[in-house]
Amino acid sequence: MKTAIITGITGQDGSYLAKLLVSKGYKIIGTTRSYNQASNEKLKYLGIEKEVKIEESDMSDVFSTIKIITKYQPDEIYNLAAQSSVGLSFEQPIGTLQYNITSVLNILEAIRMVNPKIKFYQASSSEMYGKVKKLPITEDTALHPLSPYAISKATAFWTVVNYRESYNLFACNGILFNHESYLRSNNFFVKKIIRESIAISKNKQEILKVGNIDIKRDFGFTPNYVEAMWLLLQHPTAEDITICSGKSIYLRDIIYYVFEKLNIPKSKMMVDEKLFRPVDIEDMFGDNSKAKNVIGWNYDLDFFAVLDIMLAEELKNFKD
Ligand code: NAP
Repeated sequence: MKTAIITGITGQDGSYLAKLLVSKGYKIIGTTRSYNQASNEKLKYLGIEKEVKIEESDMSDVFSTIKIITKYQPDEIYNLAAQSSVGLSFEQPIGTLQYNITSVLNILEAIRMVNPKIKFYQASSSEMYGKVKKLPITEDTALHPLSPYAISKATAFWTVVNYRESYNLFACNGILFNHESYLRSNNFFVKKIIRESIAISKNKQEILKVGNIDIKRDFGFTPNYVEAMWLLLQHPTAEDITICSGKSIYLRDIIYYVFEKLNIPKSKMMVDEKLFRPVDIEDMFGDNSKAKNVIGWNYDLDFFAVLDIMLAEELKNFKD
């Protein structure tokens, strides 16, 4: 039986990845910085809370990191814990950089010290590419981060590459584009649009306030994207791979689609310039050929079909 540590188990990706690894017979240890009643809510929702051992551990503390890796001697570590919001990173740039960079360095050092054979997955992000000159984005596209979050992920990305090249560790970057699900935190765009639109349709909210919606993004479905994380660590060689749908859509079109499904007039939406980011990327979409050809990851879901799934799940769980 393989053992995996998943950091950030309380998050969207951690929970779906745990579900996948449970189905593959792994023993799973999930970390959270601070255990409370809410820590296993998402695991509970997926019906796997009993299959995951949750441990309190803070990866920004090197001793805590070494302790948990020594205790469980995992075959694989999936590092998903991070301050993951671009918007919040402009409010908390120092905290975002400190945690998102130090945690990766600590885990890599701990792997070198405890067992250099442990395979390591780092949750890198398409946000690292930022100001791109040419689309689609591939693994060869130059990084030009446009937010503290993106800077933290770019630094962590190069740290992983450096430890792989310097110490021959099996360390990989999964460079994921936006992926969504019912378990996404409420402050992220798609989840916010769906939740607030349902509230409007039930007369619980008057208006939907949004920031810049005339930008395009490449969106996918989380349960499919976590499969790529696992595939990456099963490949014979350590790689950095972009995981994306290969298409971008306007944020405005997502809102109009959800509004139409719920019979909400467009006049219920208000653009608020206070919600604009200091800098934003106009269009981003990636090329998933390396994922397809090298690790055998296939993705062909249309994002409007994902919206249908998310809407149905949100409606089912909506509490008046
Ligand atoms: P998430 O739901 O925000 O979960 C990340 C987990 O990290 C949280 O559950 C939290 O666990 C921990 N965390 C939150 N804030 C933190 C902070 N300030 N310092 C340290 N830990 C913190 O994120 P996700 O959507 O599952 O994403 C997983 C990883 O993939 C993240 O590293 C994210 O940056 C990256 N990523 C996500 C996407 C996407 O579209 N979802 C795309 C590219 C990359 P505790 O509070 O329990 O410790």
